[in-house]
Amino acid sequence: MEKSAGVLSWDEETKMPPSGAEARAEQRATLNRIAHERNVSPDLGELLEELRPFEEEHDFESFEASLIRVARRDYEKAVRVPPELRAEMTRAGSQAYQGWLRAREAEDYGVMLPHLERNLELRRQYVACFEPAGDPYDVVLDDYEPGMKTHEVVTIFDALKAALLPWLHAVGDADPIDDSCLRGHFPRTAQRRFSLGMLEQWGMDRAAWRLDRTVHPFATSFAPTDIRLTTNFHEDSLHGILSCLHEFGHGIYERQVDPRYTRSPLAQGVSSAFHESQSRMWENLVGRRISTWRFFYPKLQVEFPEQFGDVSLETFHRSLNKVQPSFRRVDADEVTYCLHIILRFELERAMLSGELSLKDLPDAFNAKMREYLGLQPPDVVVGVLQDVHWSDMTMGYFPTYALGNVVSVQLWERAEADLGDLDDQFERGEFGSLREWLRENVHRHGRAFTPQELLQRVTGSSMDPAPYLHYLERKLGELFGAKVA
Ligand code: ZN
Repeated sequence: MEKSAGVLSWDEETKMPPSGAEARAEQRATLNRIAHERNVSPDLGELLEELRPFEEEHDFESFEASLIRVARRDYEKAVRVPPELRAEMTRAGSQAYQGWLRAREAEDYGVMLPHLERNLELRRQYVACFEPAGDPYDVVLDDYEPGMKTHEVVTIFDALKAALLPWLHAVGDADPIDDSCLRGHFPRTAQRRFSLGMLEQWGMDRAAWRLDRTVHPFATSFAPTDIRLTTNFHEDSLHGILSCLHEFGHGIYERQVDPRYTRSPLAQGVSSAFHESQSRMWENLVGRRISTWRFFYPKLQVEFPEQFGDVSLETFHRSLNKVQPSFRRVDADEVTYCLHIILRFELERAMLSGELSLKDLPDAFNAKMREYLGLQPPDVVVGVLQDVHWSDMTMGYFPTYALGNVVSVQLWERAEADLGDLDDQFERGEFGSLREWLRENVHRHGRAFTPQELLQRVTGSSMDPAPYLHYLERKLGELFGAKVA
């Protein structure tokens, strides 16, 4: 049912003519309501109760036991929230999205404020449904990162901040990089052709995947055999290509879930941080790596001879990895990205607890931008109204982006330990052994384990920022000669 609603929303963002919007909103609302009624039906509750002894006798190696455990978790969360509250959150959320568009157009936070107040009030009611004993933020975090606690995120983020803030200064003092080769004119058709070629080399098979155009890129899937990537190619930069590499990571995760799980709640990625670890791995660890570009750069030069004909691979690679504070989170490099996320996480907690009043949010946002990135946003569009996530006060999602970076390197280290040097393979255009390793160790399991169990099984560790920081430290030293030790 959710997958069918997903088809409607994919179509809405890629194909639907504008005048279809109203009817589509009704159609989606109807499907969502029916899905919700089924998800909270007393019959399902009774069935799960009957199955409890079976679940207790079997461990996670059993498909059935995992299925019951996941179905129970989803059910127990769903029944706590009254349908009226859910409906009101959906309604207020779509009004707020329209308000967000208008506020950005007018560059006026005041247009957004009443929407934010309404949605924050609803978000608090939602949290209250779970009667949280500890930190109320745990409730919203659990929607995206099941089982993780806010204090664990704080510990990881404090470690990241303690390293990244001084590094940013060290990089600022190092030799500036001339990345002018990444600016210019890049025709869309050539970008699309190049991206598809690269993704096919990585393992995208056209029988099961599509790549379409949209405003805000995303990946979705309707079954492991039906993967939809979207992107937006701008002719003045190569960001669209990088976003394809990112979305590929999401797509391959869904593609390689065990086909036995199809049409069950297990047939998807286990958590947002795990999902993001896959997109970040393909975008950054593979997609910004020199060995990868030893194979692809000659092809890029063929597509854009005027831009790259006279530019060396090394210059291109350094440009691709340039570290520089910028306003927009989605364009941020590997060092500043986590800082963008951490500041949002800190503000979300303060908003939810009431410590920060929404009237003061723009100033608080700017103050943290100055503190972490040394930048003062010139207006609210690149400031507090930058992301769509807060229009309906969606919370708990942002931190998983940075946690994804952390997990990506933990998995990568394990993969390298198992597979040996991957650079030789990448240089030859061979990405299959990494892809198959991910299938075997991560992807095929879907939601069969909890995120904590899965990470422990694969890496023997809980979530740990140290490997990510070592990776960045090495990279900054090698590429920029930055003294970050
Ligand atoms: Zn992503």
